[in-house]
Amino acid sequence: MLDTASNRPDLPAEIARRRTFAIISHPDAGKTTLTEKFLLYGGAIQMAGQVRAKGEARRTRSDFMQMEKDRGISVSASAMSFDFGTFRFNLVDTPGHSDFSEDTYRTLTAVDAAVMVIDGAKGVESQTQKLFEVCRLRDLPILTFCNKMDRESRDTFDIIDEIQENLAIDVTPASWPIGVGRGFIGCYDMLHDRLELMDRADRNKVAQSIEINGLDDPKLDEHVPANLVAQLREEVAMARELLPALDRQSVLEGHMTPIWFGSAINSFGVKELMTGIAEFGPEPQVQKATPREIAPEETRVTGFVFKVQANMDPRHRDRVAFVRLASGHFKRGMKLTHVRSKKPMTVTAPVLFLASDRELAEEAWAGDIIGIPNHGQLRIGDTLTEGEDLRVTGIPSFAPELLQQARAGDPMKAKHLEKALMQFAEEGAAKVFKPAFGSGFIVGVVGALQFEVLASRIEQEYGLPVRFENSQFTSARWVNGPKAAVDKFTEANKQHIARDNDGDVVYLTRMQWDIDRVERDYPDVTLTSTKEMM
Ligand code: GDP
Repeated sequence: MLDTASNRPDLPAEIARRRTFAIISHPDAGKTTLTEKFLLYGGAIQMAGQVRAKGEARRTRSDFMQMEKDRGISVSASAMSFDFGTFRFNLVDTPGHSDFSEDTYRTLTAVDAAVMVIDGAKGVESQTQKLFEVCRLRDLPILTFCNKMDRESRDTFDIIDEIQENLAIDVTPASWPIGVGRGFIGCYDMLHDRLELMDRADRNKVAQSIEINGLDDPKLDEHVPANLVAQLREEVAMARELLPALDRQSVLEGHMTPIWFGSAINSFGVKELMTGIAEFGPEPQVQKATPREIAPEETRVTGFVFKVQANMDPRHRDRVAFVRLASGHFKRGMKLTHVRSKKPMTVTAPVLFLASDRELAEEAWAGDIIGIPNHGQLRIGDTLTEGEDLRVTGIPSFAPELLQQARAGDPMKAKHLEKALMQFAEEGAAKVFKPAFGSGFIVGVVGALQFEVLASRIEQEYGLPVRFENSQFTSARWVNGPKAAVDKFTEANKQHIARDNDGDVVYLTRMQWDIDRVERDYPDVTLTSTKEMM
């Protein structure tokens, strides 16, 4: 097994062994199955099938929505920690549906790498492409897993070409599939010269691994049928000639992705992928912040909130803030400073998301994700430090693309609705705008499905029926500029002005023309479609 300190011997060992990553994929490519197998190899559970069952049990308990189950989509991201050999993996789950792109984006700010899962028969699908673009914005290293090789799949060179062309990234094969569909017998491990043979009889069995001394080794002929072995030799020789060789630096910079072929459901290729994650990592990275960057090895603890989830337990109106530790060695009971409010905060009951269940975290290190239960003090984008005035940057809030007016089913309950909406706004599930003129609230989302999710959660978690109705507005922009200019602008455009749940001024627009007009008539005022959360 790989040495945990091999890449950064200067890091404290506990930090060097951490790998924090997310899986991105198009729905149905096999993300859930792969996650189960990760946990299986991570020794976190006995049988891979349990994750799904457990996931469902947890969902009912924490009242995750019925809708999530019905539609088979995962609405909220969660985190899981498990060990692989001497490594500690932190897997942060991303919601797969395109309507939750903002949540996904923020989740990706909390990881150091992404595993991209594609279906061997389908190649790069739309959602994969979108998520990939988000990773690229952050230059995240990407490791690719081409799944479902046990079924009819595309030609290996075609798959690689498609990724190179559609995603404009160099692809280097880490393994090479032998045979296709029913004739698929396993892979040649191009990084370690090993033959990995799949066991179709037992889906949870680790593949048989045979050490090979290069492609000419006669051992290859003993284990691979004659028709396939000739093809394998030819293809691997061609791949080595035509495709770029693996360059770790290039992988770390996000310019190259190694690809493994396998079948998650047959537990095949998963271990090799995990070894790849351990090997190429990367270890916890430097975090962008102002006025200075944060290095993971700094002894003082810093962390930032990238996700807030409310009502995980219906009996308590608690929220859990998901915090990525950016530096240091955190211990339970530590007193940290909540930088935005400058208030101290003693973290007495941090939660570590061990795959088996939520568990109290006695300690955690840079790279880890901990959950901090709180009553609303912690918001997305908040930074926690041991006193220093540091703010993590790069966690955006996007202007909504759809706006609707929220109305309480029972007019007497308008105040309750306001509270519920604010809570969801703080969770990042929607934007809530209070118009300067008129009553009620305007709710903004990125995708239409989010309105359904919201309505259903407000009803389930607060017992409030709510209607979303068309609003005359279609989008919103944050208003920036010198105070006098902003004041003058808001005074003259009251019908368009609202405040978001942080109290920041927004301009509600009906069409692009509105924005053009402001730019023309108010040169001192700038309208932005993203806001930095800090
Ligand atoms: P997700 O939507 O990306 O989380 O995908 P799932 O893990 O739920 O998988 C989607 C479907 O593909 C399920 O029916 C899985 O059983 C199936 N599946 C996953 N991995 C494989 C595989 O390696 N081979 C085959 N044949 N089916 C697979």
